[in-house]
Amino acid sequence: MTDIPADAETRRAVAPVICYPNDTLPKVDLALYRGAREGARKVDEVLVPPREAMAFRVAAGQFFRISSVEGPQVGDLNLWNAHDLSERFYSGKTRALHGTHLSTGERMWSAFPFLRPMATITEDTLGWYGIDGYGGSVHDVIGTRCDPYTHNLLSGGQYHHCCHSNLTRALVDATGMTLAEAEPHVHDVLNVFMCTGFTRDTGQYFMKASPVRPGDYLEFFAEIDLLGALSACPGGDCSSEHSSDEAACYPLLVEVFAPEEGALQGWSQPGTNGYDRTHGR
Ligand SMILES: [Zn+2]
Repeated sequence: MTDIPADAETRRAVAPVICYPNDTLPKVDLALYRGAREGARKVDEVLVPPREAMAFRVAAGQFFRISSVEGPQVGDLNLWNAHDLSERFYSGKTRALHGTHLSTGERMWSAFPFLRPMATITEDTLGWYGIDGYGGSVHDVIGTRCDPYTHNLLSGGQYHHCCHSNLTRALVDATGMTLAEAEPHVHDVLNVFMCTGFTRDTGQYFMKASPVRPGDYLEFFAEIDLLGALSACPGGDCSSEHSSDEAACYPLLVEVFAPEEGALQGWSQPGTNGYDRTHGR
C-alpha cells in the first residue's frame, strides 16, 4: 500500500500539456486534393469479403476510398510502401501526432526512419460523429488488430479469421511470400469505421456498435506508392464481440481513383525524414 502524499490533489490538478503540438506539421492542402479528385476516374476496385482481407495497390497521387456496403462493418487497414515493406504505417506515432481517432485532413504516418505521410484523409462521411458521451469516436489508432494469439490467451482455441490472420493471408497472396515471411510485416492498424475509446473509470479499451451505414466512406490521398490490405473484421460492427463467427459481417469496398493529368500541380511526394541517423556517434 502506498501512502498518499499531503499534496496529492495539488499534484493531480496540474494542467496537461499537449505532447506534440502539431501546428508545425507540413500543411495539408485539402483544396488541392479535392480539386484533383473532381476529375478523377476509377481505375480499380476490390470487394473485401466478410471475415477476409484483400490487398490493393494505389500509386502516389491517386485516391482510395473504403466504403460500407450491405451492412455496418468495420475494417482493419494496413499500409506499406509498395517498394519497401519496412516502411509501414506507424499507428503509435500517428496517435501521438493527431490524437486517438483520425478524420479529414489528418494523415497516416510511416515508421522510423521514414516518418512521412503515407496517406492523407480527404473525406470522412462519419466526420459528424465527433466524440460521444462515453468518450468514443470512430477510425481509431488506439487498438491493435484482433489476433489469434490474444484470443488464445484469453479464451483458448484456434480462430483463423482474426484481422491479423486475414491481413497475413492477404499479404501472402499479394507478394508470394510464405505465411512465416509475411506475418512480421502485419502491423497495428487504422480501425476504419470502428467506434472505440477508453473507459473513464478503468481506462480500458472499449468498442461499441459502429455508426457506419451502407454508403458511408473514408477516402484517402496516397502520398507515396502504396500496398494496402484491408480486413473486414470478424467483429462486424463490433457491437458485441470479435474473434469469432458470431457477429453479422458484411463486405467492404475499396475503390481506387486516378486524377487527370496535371491535376496535382504544386504537389510532390513527401521526402523521408530529415534526421541524419547518427544518434550522437
Ligand atoms: Zn478485427
